Amino acid sequence: MKKTIEINRNKIDKIDRAVIELLAERRRLSESLIKAKRELQLPVEDLERENCILNRLQELAKDKLAPEFVIEIYRTIFKNAKSPFVEPIFRINSIFQEMKKEKFLIAGPCAVESKEQITDIAKQLSEYGIKYLRGGTFKPRTSPDSFQGIGEPALQYLNNAAHENRMYSVSEITAVYQLEQGFDQVDVLQIGSRNAMNFELLKAIGRYTAHEQKPIILKRGFWATINEFLAAAEYIQNAGNNSVILCLRGIRTFEQIDSEFRFTPDLASILELKNRTDLPVIFDPSHSAGQAKYVVQIAKAALELGADGIIAEAHNRPECALSDAKQCLLPSQMAEIAQYIDELNNK
Ligand code: PEP
Ligand code: MN
Repeated sequence: MKKTIEINRNKIDKIDRAVIELLAERRRLSESLIKAKRELQLPVEDLERENCILNRLQELAKDKLAPEFVIEIYRTIFKNAKSPFVEPIFRINSIFQEMKKEKFLIAGPCAVESKEQITDIAKQLSEYGIKYLRGGTFKPRTSPDSFQGIGEPALQYLNNAAHENRMYSVSEITAVYQLEQGFDQVDVLQIGSRNAMNFELLKAIGRYTAHEQKPIILKRGFWATINEFLAAAEYIQNAGNNSVILCLRGIRTFEQIDSEFRFTPDLASILELKNRTDLPVIFDPSHSAGQAKYVVQIAKAALELGADGIIAEAHNRPECALSDAKQCLLPSQMAEIAQYIDELNNK
């Protein structure tokens, strides 16, 4: 008798191992199926097919297993297969769709400096109807002695400030390991100019965000040609994420020898990019001008040339900003760009 128990236990253990393997394989297949559906822009959920499967399985299990048992198990399996996809995909995807529909403004400080700072800025910007809150968390600075951002805690401050004010959060990711530090909660990722040719980063971000197609703002390397810029975007797309937003932010030319401009605003490239791709094209007047006094006019010029959006820096106390103080606007000054965008959208 003892022997029978042991034999049956061994058999059951073997079956359980096989069940786990089969469930894992089933999940892998549904992931790739969902990915294919996404590429064809088909809905992830197919309730009709789920019902067909349930009917078929109940028939197969007839006289062997209770139908309620089969239904319960398979409802859990279906839910598990879709769970990481349906909710985030719906939410995140709708951001990219929104961006393609209407011109938009992303505003916020160069860097998140404290919870209070970002909360105050978010509140003020949202009062002007601005929907996207930017804020650097891991700052790529030219000098190691400059303020580097406050890192991981900043992501939570930024996300909370954005979501409490019904805004979407936008932040720059500079290394793959940061994905595990809260970037999954950030609505829109940014890849900065200095990393625009960090191919391993581009591939990894594309791969890790492929399942939810999280929007990625790719900034133009300030030394990059247009073809190099487009090739960088292709790295992200080829890794599985097509929700790329191209961001012009000024390029370095001989002008910087004695010009007031931090970078030369590459405004005409808006025309070329709009002609050569279907991706949204946005412009960053703050980093190209480097001075607050030019930001509004450059933003308007970019929109006039067909830019789909603007990303610009705003601070509640510009004179005290820990980075890029000279180029940031007050939220009330940012309102002029917000209003201009509203007028264009309502034309
Ligand atoms: C930024 O937007 O915070 C930034 C660092 O910009 P860029 O990568 O264009 O220099
Ligand atoms: Mn900045």
